[in-house]
Amino acid sequence: MSQIPDLNKPASTKEETIVALATPNGTGAIGIIRLSGPDAIAIANSVFKGKDLTQQASHTIHFGNIVDGEVVLDEVLASVFIAPKSYTRENVVEISCHGSAYIIESIIKLFIRQGARGAKPGEFTLRAFINGQLDLSQAEAVADLIASNSKASQQVAMQQLRGGYSNQLKQLRDQLVTFASLIELELDFSEEDVEFANRGQLKQLVVDISKMINQLIQSFELGNAIKHGVNTVIAGRPNAGKSTLLNALLNEDRAIVSHIAGTTRDTIEEILNINGINFRLVDTAGLREATDTIEAIGVQKTLEKISQSALLLYVFDAEAMTGADVALDLENLLHPGVPVVAVANKIDLLSDGKLAAGFNLPAEVELITVSAREKQHIDQLKQVIYNSAVQGKLTGNETLVTNIRHLEALQKTEQALVRVLNGIDNPITSDFLAMDIKQALHYLGEITGSVTTDDLLDNIFSKFCIGK
Ligand code: GDP
Repeated sequence: MSQIPDLNKPASTKEETIVALATPNGTGAIGIIRLSGPDAIAIANSVFKGKDLTQQASHTIHFGNIVDGEVVLDEVLASVFIAPKSYTRENVVEISCHGSAYIIESIIKLFIRQGARGAKPGEFTLRAFINGQLDLSQAEAVADLIASNSKASQQVAMQQLRGGYSNQLKQLRDQLVTFASLIELELDFSEEDVEFANRGQLKQLVVDISKMINQLIQSFELGNAIKHGVNTVIAGRPNAGKSTLLNALLNEDRAIVSHIAGTTRDTIEEILNINGINFRLVDTAGLREATDTIEAIGVQKTLEKISQSALLLYVFDAEAMTGADVALDLENLLHPGVPVVAVANKIDLLSDGKLAAGFNLPAEVELITVSAREKQHIDQLKQVIYNSAVQGKLTGNETLVTNIRHLEALQKTEQALVRVLNGIDNPITSDFLAMDIKQALHYLGEITGSVTTDDLLDNIFSKFCIGK
């Protein structure tokens, strides 16, 4: 375990100038090639015909040619950023060239011949972290932001990039550090039985930190759902109208709808975006006493899917089903912790469009009537789906934990804090108390990166794309 990576240590990351394409591979209107490192400006300038880039102010853009000897490779724009005012806090040049795979490759090769090295995945952001531009959770947010595919996931990543809970954690951590050092001081005077660290104040601080940590731990369920989508299973008997409903929700003809009971054997997954949140809808094989093996597997799969989901839409044919049938299905389907919305379908077949009384649903099951085929009440259903997943949990400016690494560090911090509290209540010697506090500090530090290991950094940054 080491503290912040030694800035003087790996010459390979500190002194070398790295180069990579920052825009996606393939043909595009423009491609942006990024150079970062002490020689970035000199290397770019050595093949740039135009103004002398080494003499330009930071944050300026210059038109010119990239030349390989006598050969003009492309007309480009060179953006110059002088250290430390850049993403990596190093000298950075960004070359905007025409987006031909050939031109891009030729320019990158040229820069490598001039002394740059091809960047590893995430190496630009790793340098931004090492040079103190971002803390670790912010660096991770950069990856999340690039991967974000809905309004909500973008907002959560943006929040984290702007500091999110790492600012709050840092403050609490600093206070805890003060206590840790006071308690360490007591160790030096252990013969004299003195108490520098006020146990009452320490306890209050630990309680405050625990409260915040607990809130963050609780927020993971929603944070994770926003980042990856809310797993939602559509289940019901064959012919209830599951595929038709899926299509109505998606507003497209995706799943194959048929009259033959039990057609949707395999599961189909589609993404439905409601108010910026992605719901991953899984249409399952029909639920019923299986008459053949394939169907039995399908039913088993349905139950399995439900146990892994965050929400169940139970669809039934409001005209054909009795209250007893529905009760029986629900009995089979209810899974602890998975909220259920019962969707009474085909209300267009009911004479007055209303359910006859008699569907006696468990209190926790919300009932909504729709016609999947006639697209009645589909918007209401969407609202119900949205509410059941996020109601009351999303106000717009809350801090949500979306990262499993952070969750694990928070849980370990929490455990260490419980030991600190026990230690205060059932007085243990200062050295044990100091040890538990140090552990809590260690895990808190893992989130922001004030405590890191090379493995941890490798693990995080290797998941980035090259050029980021
Ligand atoms: P699944 O087996 O549960 O996926 O059911 P399907 O979506 O394949 O629908 C079975 C049959 O019910 C098809 O003929 C659909 O056209 C019909 N159906 C589905 N929804 C409705 C509805 O709201 N009203 C009516 N009248 N028929 C529907």
